[in-house]
Amino acid sequence: MKPHYLYYSFDAWLKNRHGAKVQKISLDGRFGCPNRDGTIQHGGCTFCNADGSGSGLMQKGLSITEQWQYWLDKFAKSDRLKNTKNFLAYMQSYSNTYGSLEKLKNLTDTLQNLEKCVGFSVGTRPDCVDEEKLRLLASLPFQTKWIEFGVQSMHDRTLERIRRGHSAECSKQAVLLAHKHGLNVCVHLMAGLPGENSADFLNTVQEVCRLPIDGVKLHGLYVCKNTKLEEEYKNGTYIPMQEEEYVNLICDALPLIPSHIAIHRLTADSQGDELIAPGWAKLKGHVVRGIESLLFQEGKWQGCQNDVPSENPYTALYKKLERL
Ligand code: SF4
Repeated sequence: MKPHYLYYSFDAWLKNRHGAKVQKISLDGRFGCPNRDGTIQHGGCTFCNADGSGSGLMQKGLSITEQWQYWLDKFAKSDRLKNTKNFLAYMQSYSNTYGSLEKLKNLTDTLQNLEKCVGFSVGTRPDCVDEEKLRLLASLPFQTKWIEFGVQSMHDRTLERIRRGHSAECSKQAVLLAHKHGLNVCVHLMAGLPGENSADFLNTVQEVCRLPIDGVKLHGLYVCKNTKLEEEYKNGTYIPMQEEEYVNLICDALPLIPSHIAIHRLTADSQGDELIAPGWAKLKGHVVRGIESLLFQEGKWQGCQNDVPSENPYTALYKKLERL
């Protein structure tokens, strides 16, 4: 059995939905954030490294359409992706529904005109959505429509400590509203948050799984340059997780997650020069392989302590997908 047959990856979800490979393209719209511009507060979350997020292409002056074309041209020269016909617009950095409805309408008009685009995934904060914005996103003529919320934790004391500027209840209401409008909902969760232990993280995982979510993005908390967290790390009040600790925790979390929920990510991408600690954050492949190997060794899979206790459902799924 291949190790990735132990959970429902987002790539598999996309292939299952579209009957063919779908490649994500990360786009940078520079939508800003109310937690940084003074609307909620200045400075943002304690870990926020806004300069390090996104592809950086917007900083080079490329519009969303130009960024899209840049990646299409790059993929057309790649042996692995040159035959890919379906692409997903991933609005990753900042809070992409922040601002007026008009601003979001400009974005959705742009998305609809992107060549070979079969869907979108729009990342945002839970406090940056309302009925009108969600209705607009849900009305787009795409087969795949995701919204991703930065939830991070379902513990208010943690959210306060990391200066998120929204509560766990706000996250819950945003998920319910987006689901009501028919969007697929992904929640981002962070392991190793200050003041949290493993039980707190697993409790957050269980809490979000009681909501109508369709995807989860799991990652560890990294210390980046020029953040409040950097100060905490340097004065010893924040100690990042060790790789082994993170791998163990994710292997405890996946069994709790129902089998229909797509795992968008098992660990975050490295922040390159912006990263201060932990060093293992640069070894994404190593971390993923560690998680897959440990799941395999321990005879666990996603959902084995939830909806699929006795039989791993992914072997049949991946075999079907490999024939596509
Ligand atoms: S919500 Fe995102 S962009 Fe805003 S301050 Fe927090 S991490 Fe930074």
